[in-house]
Amino acid sequence: MGRSFDVVVIGAGPAGYIAAIRASQHGMNVACIDEWQNTDGSNAFGGTCLNAGCIPSKALLESSELFHRAQHEFSKHGINVSGVAVDIQKMQKRKAGIVRQLTGGIAGLFKANKVSGLVGHGRLLTGKKVEFTPVDGDVEVLDSRYVILASGSTPIELSIAPFDGERIVDSLVALEFEQAPATLGVVGGGVIGLELGSVWSRLGSEVTVLEAMDDFLFMVDRQLAKEAGRQFKKQGLTIRLGAKVTAAKVSGNKVTVDYEDQSGKQSLTVDKLVVAVGRRPFTDGLLADDSGIQLDERGFIEVDDECRTAAKGVFAIGDCVRGPMLAHKGSEEGVMAADLIAGEIAEVNYNVIPSVIYTAPEIAWVGKTEEEVQASGREYKVGSFPFAASARAKAMEQTAGMVKIVSAADDDEILGVHIIGPMAGELIAEAVLAMEFSGSTEDIQRTIHAHPSLAEALHEAALAVDKRALNFPNT
Ligand code: NAD
Repeated sequence: MGRSFDVVVIGAGPAGYIAAIRASQHGMNVACIDEWQNTDGSNAFGGTCLNAGCIPSKALLESSELFHRAQHEFSKHGINVSGVAVDIQKMQKRKAGIVRQLTGGIAGLFKANKVSGLVGHGRLLTGKKVEFTPVDGDVEVLDSRYVILASGSTPIELSIAPFDGERIVDSLVALEFEQAPATLGVVGGGVIGLELGSVWSRLGSEVTVLEAMDDFLFMVDRQLAKEAGRQFKKQGLTIRLGAKVTAAKVSGNKVTVDYEDQSGKQSLTVDKLVVAVGRRPFTDGLLADDSGIQLDERGFIEVDDECRTAAKGVFAIGDCVRGPMLAHKGSEEGVMAADLIAGEIAEVNYNVIPSVIYTAPEIAWVGKTEEEVQASGREYKVGSFPFAASARAKAMEQTAGMVKIVSAADDDEILGVHIIGPMAGELIAEAVLAMEFSGSTEDIQRTIHAHPSLAEALHEAALAVDKRALNFPNT
């Protein structure tokens, strides 16, 4: 018989490692299993987010944005620079250092919280037992009072454009390029496609994004999506909408992509092709036949609102269950699962989960888009404020974009807040808090915002909802 725990968590991404820490804070004896292996063979906690997603992409987005600004913006500030050059190896090294620090930080947090971090594969057996296959060593069957499955997600592969790790690649490989490909194709104009497309475009690639849908950024408020499309075009990204990829073939050091759009059959030849058409829940090798866990038709582990699976005492959280595939959503589900196990009352408010796309300008939103509110039939009012009228944005030379607020006409409830512009990902936090507290537009109107600050744009947008904007004409 192997070791015995109160809670065994399978997966140490932002859902799993947070669940493990929270459970140990409740005084439970916790193990967290993870098998993540880096390309150099080393193991690391942190899952996709820290090792191959959110964190490395943000490091490269920041570096490439600085390079872009040095070339195109510094002169507007009266700073004349010449010979600005990029050293992608160094950029990659900085990124790897950040990832190493943060993943090492999780190992440190496990130690501090007395969580047993187990490196290897975990498989759920019947009766809340977990088979642990260490990277080196013998298989052990762990006994646990509760199990939390947090196995994450993995890129969807297109059979017509299979990954070869060299020319047709997923987002992980596309974060590791050692030089900017002269031409880069991206299949999928979603979050990953736009973030990665932005990075390599700023570093010198000619980027073409092929998006199957006719609508650009279909999940984003239409007004913002339109503005985003305009900005990305200005930055030199080519985005082809309604482009259905039919085949991708590698020949020599090029990839030829065949696709169909409104004008008929087309083809595009590029040096590298990134396929970013979404991610699927990752449950390979996770569940024994008699584990009692149900998967839905798309492969997600079925859970209720409290993340309980069909197997008693087994929870599932994060990307492997329904809901948006976002690190912060997974972390909150981890906290909820641990709190419920500890006998506390806990819930996740799925209505106020912020989304952020880290392009420049950033796009961030929470709640319903104007189109969704309209479709719901509820009477509403809208206010917006452009960053072009924000003193702070002007001083920053970052005037593209706006804040838009959609509120209920009857009781003034904030229904959705949509921001495209500088630091949108930070600004959205105020809106999330207001909505979490069931705030009204008037609450934001009556809240004092520092001047000059970008946050004033949210304040003014709230005022504009009632045609009371002070620094922009009300229409
Ligand atoms: P996504 O769902 O955001 O976008 C995929 C896009 O690919 C969609 O627009 C879809 O219409 C398009 N598509 C699908 N099949 C296609 C085809 N055959 N040809 C052309 N286009 C096609 O998925 P993603 O960008 O791969 O991201 C995966 C997940 O990771 C998402 O859930 C996302 O929320 C998450 N993520 C979040 C962040 C962030 O929060 N900033 C960053 C990266 C990833």
